[in-house]
Amino acid sequence: MKKLLALFATVMLLCSTSQAAEEGWLTDYNDALAQAKKENKNLMVLFTGSDWCIWCKRLQADVLTKDEFKDFAKENLILLALDFPRENKPSKEVQAERRALAEKYQIEGYPTLVLLTPEEKDFGRMGYTKEVSDFLAEYKKLAQAVETTQKATDKQALSFDYTIRIRYKDYPEMEGWMKSMQAICKEWYPILAAELNSEGFKPASTVTITLQSDPKGVAGTGGDHIYLSKEYFSKNGTDAGAVIHELAHVIQAYPTYVPWITESIADYMRLYKFEPNAPRPKVDPERFNLQRGYKGGAAFLAWLVEKKNPEIVVKLNAALRADKYKDELFEELAGSSLEDLVKEFKASLK
Ligand SMILES: [Zn+2]
Repeated sequence: MKKLLALFATVMLLCSTSQAAEEGWLTDYNDALAQAKKENKNLMVLFTGSDWCIWCKRLQADVLTKDEFKDFAKENLILLALDFPRENKPSKEVQAERRALAEKYQIEGYPTLVLLTPEEKDFGRMGYTKEVSDFLAEYKKLAQAVETTQKATDKQALSFDYTIRIRYKDYPEMEGWMKSMQAICKEWYPILAAELNSEGFKPASTVTITLQSDPKGVAGTGGDHIYLSKEYFSKNGTDAGAVIHELAHVIQAYPTYVPWITESIADYMRLYKFEPNAPRPKVDPERFNLQRGYKGGAAFLAWLVEKKNPEIVVKLNAALRADKYKDELFEELAGSSLEDLVKEFKASLK
């Protein structure tokens, strides 16, 4: 029996060595996430095809195996490699798990690195970079941005009291749904307030959400009142994102309604903060029109945050709230005119 156990232990050891092929990289998502929480470090998740994907091999050779990267990672990161090899495939179960994760994180090519906080908040994507120093600089920029947001969230969430009221008395059958929206808004109100903070800003202390008959509409907001269409939400109950969009309007509280940017910021909050793991809005460069705002505008803002200025939404929000918004602000905040930025954004979609 002892012999058998010893043999078993040897086999186990062999298995785990061959799985953790790359030094320092974990291979199981839940283990890695637990480790990230325990050590309070960000998680870098590599989606790779180690034996067939040429850019994956280059990323390994040029960045991931370099001492500069390894030293940085040892101090700051939990590393997870999810391999999709053509030869020596892992068990069917493991393959299915990895495919589900590739789907969850909308992986469209290899190699892709997904960056997650210990709370599993998705804060960016990276790919092949030739120089390890550029690679680390890019990572630090993204980590810095999420840290700033996180700090604002922590601070703001503690500093004000508020109530989310719900009214639905004509529609008792919607009580459960209204209560679930109330809970989501309760959680997200201080987060949105932190995301869209500005000096001296005090969010409304009471938000009222009313369900009413509006067969053709979806939702609307006036001041600190949100109106939801009973007809729309009876059919589209899962669309909590539409309620978050309205809640963002309550927080915005801009004295002047500049439609495209007000709607773009509200949809940016919804799509990139509340639903970061949902499929990204597909924007057609031929049809893109900033004046329509909403999803296309939100995608434009996300592109500006990533490529030009991680603080741009915060700064635009502050200007709008102080009633000082003008298109020329883009020169100052992103280095080019709004028109040129739109051209560059459209070109990036092709
Ligand atoms: Zn709106």
